Amino acid sequence: MRIAILGAGAMGSWFGGRLAMQGSDVELLTTNQAHIGAVQDKGLILRSATAEQCLSIPIHRPEEVQAPVDIILLFTKTFQSDRAMASVAHAITSDTHVLTLQNGIGNADIIANYVALEQTWIGVTMMPVDLLGPGIVASTGSGVSYFGGAVGQEHAVAHHLLQAFQATDLDVRLVQDIHRRVWEKVAFNAGMNAFCALARGTPGTIGKSPGAHDLVKDVAVEVAAVALTQEVEIDLDSVVNTIDFACAEHGEHKPSMLQDLLAKRPTEVAALNGAVVALADSAGVPVPMNRLLATLVTLAEIAQREAD
Ligand code: NAD
Repeated sequence: MRIAILGAGAMGSWFGGRLAMQGSDVELLTTNQAHIGAVQDKGLILRSATAEQCLSIPIHRPEEVQAPVDIILLFTKTFQSDRAMASVAHAITSDTHVLTLQNGIGNADIIANYVALEQTWIGVTMMPVDLLGPGIVASTGSGVSYFGGAVGQEHAVAHHLLQAFQATDLDVRLVQDIHRRVWEKVAFNAGMNAFCALARGTPGTIGKSPGAHDLVKDVAVEVAAVALTQEVEIDLDSVVNTIDFACAEHGEHKPSMLQDLLAKRPTEVAALNGAVVALADSAGVPVPMNRLLATLVTLAEIAQREAD
């Protein structure tokens, strides 16, 4: 089965590289010309805490992918998804499946413009990966990933993917309750990422302020109420535990929203707090904290742009 990694940045290059190393038929697709050049010239360097490997792997721009592709692993930032999917539309057939492990909610809705929901697989990943520079990705941590059918479907393709992942050192699991896991990650990220980005701090910083720590949990409570309107019941205790754990143990980690703001890049706030607000408004659920955070992060992005 041909697997195309659409959005071969940090995560896409790591997942694609790990799959290719174990014999999967993988090609990387990205718009990052410097990354394409470096991987074509010198190979893809995958750096972990214990090893560094250099892999020869096909990489090119998305428009250059040949039809047909069996599985697309979508790993752009959420706001890049639609354009990326459009650029590989020529390689999508009625048998193509798409898996997204991107953050946020609403990813399946974008994919649904290109592939049936019955062929769309959604998920979450806790794996931390950085693109250190063109051709070099690094992950010094570990983390489990979960995926499942967007509409609860079963399909042999999912088991094929699972087997391919199981051949690697990636911990990827196929589950039935994927919507709960996606919403739980959103409940964590909506407060933690936005507070860290706005405060220019880390979860460790949040942990030093009992007031901020409590507010991050209040944001998760709002997200849980919105999830219920989508018939998803999240385990708030588990989300609170994750928040407490991050405050205690991830003192140095800069969440992606903070990294993006510092680098003057757009953030994924629209797929996190923004998406929560949109669904809450449709259902008539008050979410003042998420609305404030979505507005402040968006303002911070605009201010960064205007400062240039
Ligand atoms: P990234 O910015 O490193 O990678 C995105 C890649 O997509 C870039 O190489 C970019 O050039 C490429 N791209 C942009 N537009 C494109 C297009 N039209 N066609 C093809 N490629 C295109 O982002 P990332 O850190 O790998 O994150 C990807 C997703 O995974 C995000 O939703 C993020 O929230 C999620 N995630 C990341 C991490 C992490 O540790 N990096 C952890 C968990 C979840």
